[in-house]
Amino acid sequence: MKYLKEIVGHKQSVKILLRSLASGRVAHAILLAGPEGVGKETAALSFARALLCSSPADGDACGVCRECRQVSSGNHPDFYIVEPAGSSIKIEQIRDIQRKVPYLSYQGGRKIFLIRQAEAMTAEAANCMLKTLEEPPRDTVFILVSDRPQALLPTILSRCQQIYFKSMTVKELVQGLVSLEGVAEKEALLYASLAGGSMGRALSYASGALLADRDGANALAQALRDCSLPEAMDRAEKASESKVKALFTLDTLACWYRDLLVYREAGDTGFLFNSDQAGLIKTEAGRYKTTGILEIIEEIELTKRKIEVNANTRMALEALFLGLNARSAGDQRNNGKKI
Ligand SMILES: [Zn+2]
Repeated sequence: MKYLKEIVGHKQSVKILLRSLASGRVAHAILLAGPEGVGKETAALSFARALLCSSPADGDACGVCRECRQVSSGNHPDFYIVEPAGSSIKIEQIRDIQRKVPYLSYQGGRKIFLIRQAEAMTAEAANCMLKTLEEPPRDTVFILVSDRPQALLPTILSRCQQIYFKSMTVKELVQGLVSLEGVAEKEALLYASLAGGSMGRALSYASGALLADRDGANALAQALRDCSLPEAMDRAEKASESKVKALFTLDTLACWYRDLLVYREAGDTGFLFNSDQAGLIKTEAGRYKTTGILEIIEEIELTKRKIEVNANTRMALEALFLGLNARSAGDQRNNGKKI
């Protein structure tokens, strides 16, 4: 488990957390919000450990006391983690918190409730949570984590100290991969460029877990141009197996077309995100017009936004994939004119 001071990037957010710890003035409810995979979860766990540590230094956890070891191994009796059971956080889960709140902590320190994906609370659960936050018990801290704070009740938001985590820069991601994970600089730059500001995704690339998925999503761009309409629908169905997979596919496709655009405009492979695919990008870029690529990127971004606000994932992907497929069908009717 990381110390707060070890967290890569997010200097301002970490500073706020450390300052509250060092001064002992910790809000009773704190929301860590920001895009998926930027490090909110890591920060939330490190913050919880620092809150429970029996001999903190400058606010941060010592890492060696009994409490720190218990948090690191997931065995601290006053540290509760609540996360969606299935697709949502149910009212029973929040009632369970409510029941625990009035009691003294087992070990004499604070009680910490960490709520992952807080936006997944059902309306009933959120109202129950609100009541719990309205009567803040002493020595109890709620840490809410959310990728979509806009989906939380405004009344919950107003009761939390809100700390925002921004997407990380490519430079910060490279620094993290090289210094903490020992990734070679050249590979780190590739993974950081593909990660779209997310340390979680950069780490997945570094572990080799995502490159094949990236290749699959990139191959879609060519496949949709050449395939039949039923096959395009079939590919939409496969890509919409989960929301996470669909969003990854869209991010990766956007990244791919961005590279085609950059190569068309700059004529240089030095600016590519998919730097290991320079040969293919050179060939593919010649098959499109700049305006066509811009329109495709816009359609991908629009589809992504629809899915993020809970549109039907499969229908949104079908509309996009059929649109991309129809572009190339029109292209063939026009005797191979560029898309
Ligand atoms: Zn400690």
